[in-house]
Amino acid sequence: MFLKPLFLMKAFSQFFIIATLCLFSSISQAGNFRTVVIDAGHGGHDNGGQWGRVYEKHLALDTAYRLEGKLKALGYNTVMTRRSDYFISLPQRVSTGNSYRNAIFVSIHYNYTWKQEVSGLETFYYSAEGKTLADCVHNNLIRRTRTVDRKVKYARFYVIRNSALPAVLVEGGFVSNSPERDRMKSAWFRESIAQGIVDGIQRYRRGM
Ligand SMILES: [Zn+2]
Repeated sequence: MFLKPLFLMKAFSQFFIIATLCLFSSISQAGNFRTVVIDAGHGGHDNGGQWGRVYEKHLALDTAYRLEGKLKALGYNTVMTRRSDYFISLPQRVSTGNSYRNAIFVSIHYNYTWKQEVSGLETFYYSAEGKTLADCVHNNLIRRTRTVDRKVKYARFYVIRNSALPAVLVEGGFVSNSPERDRMKSAWFRESIAQGIVDGIQRYRRGM
C-alpha cells in the first residue's frame, strides 16, 4: 500500500528533473531543427569494442537503424553517416553532419574497458548546445533502460568537438561487462536505447 504513492512520487520527481533540465534549452536554438544526423560508430576493419564475437560496430549500426525508423515515423529527416559495415573516417562523419543546417548530430557507441566490473551508460557533449541536448537524451536513456547512470560528461572526442551542430555521443553500455553484454545482445535493449534517444530529442525540441 505504501509502495504505490512512493513510486508515483519518484516518477514525478524524475519527470520534474528532466523537465527542468530541458527547460534551460528555451534560451537556446533547440526546436529549430528538422534533421537528425545519426552516426553509428566504427565499421569495417574498425570493430570498436569487442568481446568474443560481440562487436561494438554491429551494435551501434543496429541501434542507429532502430533510431532512424523511430525518428522517420515522427516526421524527422534522418541522415546516416554509414548504412552498413564499412569504414568511414572521423572527418568524413563530421563533414556529413556539417553539410546540414537545422540539424542535430547523434553518435552511437558502446563502451569497452579492461575493468570487467565497470558498467553503465554515459552521454558526452562538447559545446554548450550539445550539453542541453545531452541532458535531454541522457535522462531519457536512463529512464528507458534503468541501467547504471554514468552521467552526462564533457569530452573532446573528434566527432562532437568538430561538429557545427548540437552534438552528443552516447555510450550505451560496456561490451566488456558480462551482464551488460548479455543485455545488448537482446533486441529489446537496443530498442530501449533507440527509444530513449528519441524521447530525449523530442524533449529537446519541445524545449523551444
Ligand atoms: Zn566506440
